[in-house]
Amino acid sequence: AGTTADRARERLVSVFGFQSFRPGQAEIVCAVIAGENILAIMPTGGGKSLCYQLPALCGEGVTVVISPLIALMRDQVRALREAGVEAGALTSANTEAETGAVWAALRERRLKLLYMAPERLASGATLGVLRRAGVTRIAVDEAHCVSQWGHDFRPDYLRIGALRKALNVPLAAFTATADAETREEIVARLFDGTPPKTFLRGFDRPNIHLAFAPKDSPRKQILAFAAARKGQAGIVYCGTRAKTESLAGALVRAGHAACHYHGGLDPADRRMVEDRFQKEDGLIVVATVAFGMGVDKPDIRWVAHADLPKSIEAYYQEIGRAGRDGAPAETLTLYGPEDIRLRRAQIDESPAPPERRAADHTRLNALLGLAEALTCRRQTLLRYFGEEAAPCGHCDLCEAPPALFDATEAVQKALSA
Ligand code: ADP
Ligand code: MG
Ligand code: ZN
Repeated sequence: AGTTADRARERLVSVFGFQSFRPGQAEIVCAVIAGENILAIMPTGGGKSLCYQLPALCGEGVTVVISPLIALMRDQVRALREAGVEAGALTSANTEAETGAVWAALRERRLKLLYMAPERLASGATLGVLRRAGVTRIAVDEAHCVSQWGHDFRPDYLRIGALRKALNVPLAAFTATADAETREEIVARLFDGTPPKTFLRGFDRPNIHLAFAPKDSPRKQILAFAAARKGQAGIVYCGTRAKTESLAGALVRAGHAACHYHGGLDPADRRMVEDRFQKEDGLIVVATVAFGMGVDKPDIRWVAHADLPKSIEAYYQEIGRAGRDGAPAETLTLYGPEDIRLRRAQIDESPAPPERRAADHTRLNALLGLAEALTCRRQTLLRYFGEEAAPCGHCDLCEAPPALFDATEAVQKALSA
């Protein structure tokens, strides 16, 4: 085992240019190299990609990587190639020449990592080629996309279980979504119900300051929050497309560099906003949840919610986009009775089956519990993800504990006297 770890560490430095593993990575990398089935739950920004990329370089054959976003796949392939790694992607965005080159590299057994959109698995021809291509491992990124109750469900992810059986190779699944239900679904659908070796750790993002506030004049509250952070890159999440436009306008009038983003923009405009956000310093993007999965900017200094997110998982993912560089970042989530009514109605009116709606209500209620918590916000959040933690000292409630009503104080005094 020592030699495996040493070899992995050597490539960590020589190929990826990193000096050391991040917390949790070394154990996962070793288990993947050892050919175990694993499920790794690591927070956003924790460094999950490396946990399948590095093992792919340490062994024979090809690692097939299933990932839900073409843009992210292409980005990873580009970065790997720049590092001198033979990697390719099969996606609908490929040119014919690109696809041809990938097939050739596969045939010649040069490829170490083959990224594939899950839609590819629908084709019997793909399976046939993979059977002959010397695949030694499957890695599934964003494995929670297999969960029908989750917000990122991708039906084609359900084909991965069959792929694993057809190729009969170990599978490594990665996600940042930790709740027990999602985990169970991943085990059922990707591992045929046989629990893989599971790695769950480190949901705390101690550099992110947590705060909630009742919504009284949301526009003013967001403008004040942004004004106190002028020139810093931030995201404001809104519940509606219309609000992203009006709030971005208000921010611009207040002298900020700001723009709006939502699923109704055409793809070119969306890409332009993504590019600007990546490259410019201190841009504010006012967005619906459509802005997210593909965002990989390390120095987002703040995230504000003008409206309550739809669940505690959504909240965690959205605030988790701040401060990936580890430097201090701040968040503010506004909520009011109308948010709660709206979110409840959205769940009730959704065409989802009753069990799913019940699960969605549970996740919304967990977020309401967090919004109305009386003691450490972080402790409450981490507890939901199954982690025990001491009060953090770095959230609104630790900094200004709500006054307990007199009777409680009187009782406490009586007890401590
Ligand atoms: P995740 O998929 O878990 O959200 P990524 O794999 O995208 O995280 O990694 C997040 C960032 O951390 C990337 O910029 C990546 O290059 C960087 N990173 C990963 N592992 C290390 C490491 N051991 N040392 C330094 N940076 C790392
Ligand atoms: Mg990732
Ligand atoms: Zn706290």
